[in-house]
Amino acid sequence: PTIRELLASGQRSFSFEFFPPKTPEAEEVLWRSIREIEQLRPTFVSITYGAGGSTRDGTIRVTERVAQDTSLTPLGHLTCVAHSRDELRSVIGAYAGSGVRNMLALRGDPPGGPNQPWVAHPDGLNHAIELVELIRSLGDFCVGVAAFPDKHPEAVSLEADARVLAAKARAGADYAITQMFFGADDYFRLVDRAAALGCDIPVLPGIMPVTNIKQIQRMAELTGMALPASVTDRLHAVEDDPAGVRETGIEIATELSERLLAGGAPGIHFITLNRSTATRQVFRNLRPAVVS
Ligand code: FAD
Repeated sequence: PTIRELLASGQRSFSFEFFPPKTPEAEEVLWRSIREIEQLRPTFVSITYGAGGSTRDGTIRVTERVAQDTSLTPLGHLTCVAHSRDELRSVIGAYAGSGVRNMLALRGDPPGGPNQPWVAHPDGLNHAIELVELIRSLGDFCVGVAAFPDKHPEAVSLEADARVLAAKARAGADYAITQMFFGADDYFRLVDRAAALGCDIPVLPGIMPVTNIKQIQRMAELTGMALPASVTDRLHAVEDDPAGVRETGIEIATELSERLLAGGAPGIHFITLNRSTATRQVFRNLRPAVVS
């Protein structure tokens, strides 16, 4: 099924994000996690698209195997980074050939690194919107896009960012998934800004339980994600105790997910970092009342 159809069913969507592994050991961890997640019967699982080289082939390979060897619905990510239009067409063809109808259309981060200006491939695409149009032009695919409750770092304002989201929807995006964030109100404000522009596609909040303080600080620096004191204070209070950090991270993610669902979010997209234990715990913690 397409994610568009799954979201239209009226049931809350629960999905889990993985990345393509680089070593045989990491491959084993990934598949153990995917099998554990499969037992939760999620709405879909997604596989990120790497910055280059072998991990890109890995994305296609893992997504194909999910499509063929599991009961899960896969979503393949795709970025414009360092790809000509022809290459993008052939990746889309490879997804289609392995039975993948769901794609997440992304521009990708600047190939030179997070603080460098974005540079498109000379024969490539400049914005995610163009990739949405390209995928749409090639067949009956279901296309998702990225959204940013804390604003994309290159966007001049939250308003401009919402206009981009609305333009992605007009170009044919069926739904959006957000960058991870910690403020439920920031998510609701994004949805309201988009709605005021006539954009009413479902926006799935991206949630990652913090299991490591340094890692989350690094991610905040890279993505422009806000790290509120209410979150860092709770984590720092237990920073000498790794199990305490993990438990607190799971608690914070559970509370945030419950607020989002209670406020009308269409589901939760969990970022797993290929280890399923923390996200499965958050999923189990969610009260049945907000899940159904
Ligand atoms: P765009 O929509 O192109 O936006 C990029 C910037 O340009 C924004 O500031 C936007 O406001 C601006 N903009 C867009 N269109 C226009 C326009 N027409 N005119 C003027 N300005 C414009 N990265 C990966 O490498 N691999 C992944 O698998 C991956 N998965 C992701 C999944 C999710 C759910 C999210 C939220 C992000 C993911 N990313 C991934 C990161 C993403 O590629 C980066 O955040 C990237 O910098 C922006 O991508 P985008 O698709 O939003 O780009």
